Amino acid sequence: MPETVEGARSPVELSVVIPVYNEEAVLPLLVDRLRPLADSWGVSYEVLCVDDGSSDATPVLLQRLRREWPQVRVVRLRANAGHQAAISAGLARARGDWVATIDADLQDPPEAIGEMLAVARAEGVDVVYGVRGDRASDTAFKRLSARAFYRSIRALSAVDAPVDAGDFRLMSRATVDAVNALPEHHRVLRLVVPALGFPSASVSYTRAARAAGESKYPLGKMIRLSVDSLTGFSIAPLRFATWLGLLGGVAALGVLVYAVIAMLLGNTLPGWTSTVVIVAAVGAVQLLALGILGEYVGRMYAMLQGRPSYYVAHDSLVDSSARARH
Ligand code: UDP
Ligand code: MG
Repeated sequence: MPETVEGARSPVELSVVIPVYNEEAVLPLLVDRLRPLADSWGVSYEVLCVDDGSSDATPVLLQRLRREWPQVRVVRLRANAGHQAAISAGLARARGDWVATIDADLQDPPEAIGEMLAVARAEGVDVVYGVRGDRASDTAFKRLSARAFYRSIRALSAVDAPVDAGDFRLMSRATVDAVNALPEHHRVLRLVVPALGFPSASVSYTRAARAAGESKYPLGKMIRLSVDSLTGFSIAPLRFATWLGLLGGVAALGVLVYAVIAMLLGNTLPGWTSTVVIVAAVGAVQLLALGILGEYVGRMYAMLQGRPSYYVAHDSLVDSSARARH
């Protein structure tokens, strides 16, 4: 168990956070598989189900489950807020020294949670990622889009995110506190967590097919996640606009010079040169100004995101008294 300052008042050693959206078909299967495992972990635990505004029988099933399984906690969101927001709500409420996040549909094997905990303790790391070694059960489109997603985010952002790690992971209390402290909306946790830079390890697992029901991630939500990832972790699109402005500005200056030369050579209609010069000059000034504005907007955005510009791994003065862990 980590010797965090919060450790003393944490009532459980492990929280399992599960986002649940219209999963009436899956819940009974999940419970059958998770409960015997949880009881075999040998740690005190809570299973924190975040009902993401389900409109099927999920809320009823969860209330029943809460009565039958004392370690279950249910948090219900008023409306469907999305997978990432549901996990964030769970992280904000989890009380464990360790917090695991896992999808409800049994695509991630709950068996791996015990393994993650063992790895975290043996290697003294804060984060253990579940990495999808084999995703043969996913559709070709899902695999292809996931591949494109993970590779382009890696290329465009400065975050060293593990490839093919989704939202199945174990985090220490210190990590969860750091995530909770970020003021950001639209958090993409699979990028936020690696960006925090805590020592990490990973366990590989085979991504199974959904145990029952339909995917709750239609194309629209997948695109949303990609846009959030890109805009949240890269100012490449903004930079692109800046460069476009600069290029446009230079091109407009070229047109201006051409118009003046053409006039001096005398082969222009009266009034043509002045028109072109005005249009080109105004265009150049606007595009360049937009580029400059873009740079400042980028800085403001970074400040609004409120991510610290560094994270301290350890400080000998503080660590000798408070943290004996690493
Ligand atoms: N989920 C959620 N809110 C949503 C969509 C999904 O809480 O708006 C949950 C869902 O119940 C599941 C997890 O997020 O536990 C992953 O969703 P899903 O399995 O449908 O996504 P896929 O595996 O198809 O990408
Ligand atoms: Mg799934």
